[in-house]
Amino acid sequence: MSIYTRIAVKIGSNVLTRSDGTLDITRMSALVDQIALLHKRGKEIVLVSSGAVASGRSEIRVEKKLDSVAARQLYSAVGQAKLINRYYELFREHGITCGQVLTTKENFASRTHYLNQKRCMEVMLENKVIPIVNENDTVSVTELMFTDNDELSGLIAAMMKMDALIILSNVDGIYNGNPADPASSVIPEIGCKDDPAGYVQATRSAFGRGGMLTKCSIAQKVAGEGIAVIIANGKREHILPSLLEDGAETVVCTRFRPASRPVSQVKKWIAHSEGFAKGEVHINAGAVEALRGDKAVSILPVGVTHIEGDFEKDDIVRIIDDKGSQIGVGCTAYDSREAATLTGRHDKKPIIHYDYLYLD
Ligand code: GLU
Repeated sequence: MSIYTRIAVKIGSNVLTRSDGTLDITRMSALVDQIALLHKRGKEIVLVSSGAVASGRSEIRVEKKLDSVAARQLYSAVGQAKLINRYYELFREHGITCGQVLTTKENFASRTHYLNQKRCMEVMLENKVIPIVNENDTVSVTELMFTDNDELSGLIAAMMKMDALIILSNVDGIYNGNPADPASSVIPEIGCKDDPAGYVQATRSAFGRGGMLTKCSIAQKVAGEGIAVIIANGKREHILPSLLEDGAETVVCTRFRPASRPVSQVKKWIAHSEGFAKGEVHINAGAVEALRGDKAVSILPVGVTHIEGDFEKDDIVRIIDDKGSQIGVGCTAYDSREAATLTGRHDKKPIIHYDYLYLD
């Protein structure tokens, strides 16, 4: 049996929907059976499921043409209700309770929201309830959106200290060429630092937002945090148990080797929150050298040359070296006004403590 106990499973829209865009209940039911089996074997599963927009689209005939944001809001509002209702009934047949967690990118930007979400899912798992997570597509529109649910599943896997993240798509894994070309094959293993851009196809799937290249780079990022990532075909029979049972090495899929030195939870959150950075802390060459050394060092006011942007205490900021390049991100102990008054001064507590610092 597998060494993984806590597993995040991400199911893409393309796995759950038929070619006409309607929800594929047979597929959903087969996947629920598999998750139920793993649950009964003592695995803690968090399911990240797409399919809200796709399943809502087939429910409604709109009278007048909607813009893309309104359409997404309408379809997801209806589709998410339909999706979770299906899951609820399907899991209930196995005597398992599931619950819905809807989230937005903003919930990962604030540490309080982040911890609230985490605690919610922890209490669900403790009580043997399977969390079913999706983006709250009704409110997260345009620039507030996750790239796709692959990104969301990576954040959830990091947040919940998952042992593994299994991304189910409608292909067998990452191909070394165009999947339609018989000469190309699935790459069995990819390292966190490999550069896949040369051989991964950039085309997007029909109903989901993610493409293979983004899938691959998200998988590498998550593996870099010490979590095993597997991309496999959700349409294959018994795929989930077979990925975790003896003989799993013969299953066609792409596995991402997890990094051996995983980073702390706080650092994971900070690394993932980079997109929310509110300002910049510019540091001098001496501070850069200290950070690059073997010891764990914090960024002290004395090593800071100047502050840019307008931020509050506990916000995420970029760390910029003396050449103007970003070298990491961190969570600040001061707001931008106070930080600016402290630059260059000795005997002050760190602007960014080591525990809240993530170097690229
Ligand atoms: N949250 C979207 C949905 O449930 C899917 C996003 C994606 O395709 O990754 O419809």
